[in-house]
Amino acid sequence: MSTYWDKCFQEKDLSKINTPGLYRELTKTNTSFQELKKVWSIDLGSDITEVELDEVWMRALTVSKDVTLTLTQLKTVRRYNRALSKLQRVGLRPAGICWKCSAEVGTYLHVVWDCVTTKSFWTEVCKMASDITRKQIEPDPAICLLGILSRLDNQSNSEWLATAFAVTKMLIHCKWKDPSAPTVQDWFNALAKIAKLERVIYGNIDSVCNYDKIWGPFLSSII
Ligand SMILES: [Zn+2]
Repeated sequence: MSTYWDKCFQEKDLSKINTPGLYRELTKTNTSFQELKKVWSIDLGSDITEVELDEVWMRALTVSKDVTLTLTQLKTVRRYNRALSKLQRVGLRPAGICWKCSAEVGTYLHVVWDCVTTKSFWTEVCKMASDITRKQIEPDPAICLLGILSRLDNQSNSEWLATAFAVTKMLIHCKWKDPSAPTVQDWFNALAKIAKLERVIYGNIDSVCNYDKIWGPFLSSII
């Protein structure tokens, strides 16, 4: 059994994931990628192929220049919710109950996707993303949670969509104990902050054309 995330899924870009201490918590659960693939396939109700698994990993490493979003994506792929398990362990919360709705079993998929207000938020985000990219995007956990954007018929704007979905997950993680979901305005504000940060970084690497290509449709939508 080879793990530390199966040698970081065959060492595609270790420089990104060896940042001291940053992902230490994530390494505590030493589940292999093949085991994760199985569990996600069951949750999604469809098999994740090896090519898609590769895409999931590469997407997590390249989702944004913002390290918080990279961490959010890695946490999602690895189904990581430290606070929930800790609170249940010390008896502050009955094991298995979702914090948001206090009604359903709080499985990982329920908390990040199926819980009623969370699901409505995903539906709104997909509608906004459809308007911005001018293509139909149906809420689909394989695409939105794992970043398997190759499942979309039209794969234009994939880089921006991956970032936009990572922002959605970051907001959901921030409000996972709150009965209400984040709002579309929260989503726009958070994305605008990432757009500003990435503008500086793309400017520094002399790649403003790429920035305009990725962020142009979003920026046009808020003018
Ligand atoms: Zn719930």
